[in-house]
Amino acid sequence: MSPPCPCGRAAPLADCCGHYLAGAPAPDAESLMRSRYTAYVLEDEV
Ligand SMILES: [Zn+2]
Repeated sequence: MSPPCPCGRAAPLADCCGHYLAGAPAPDAESLMRSRYTAYVLEDEV
């Protein structure tokens, strides 16, 4: 079980912003902004 993505979507990180954090192109501006927020949150937790 993976925790939900920090960006606010119900999908697990690996199925949501994880793709974009790993280098995949975000399909739209919203996904890009969410992935940046997720990166910020993850960095904050380390
Ligand atoms: Zn996400």
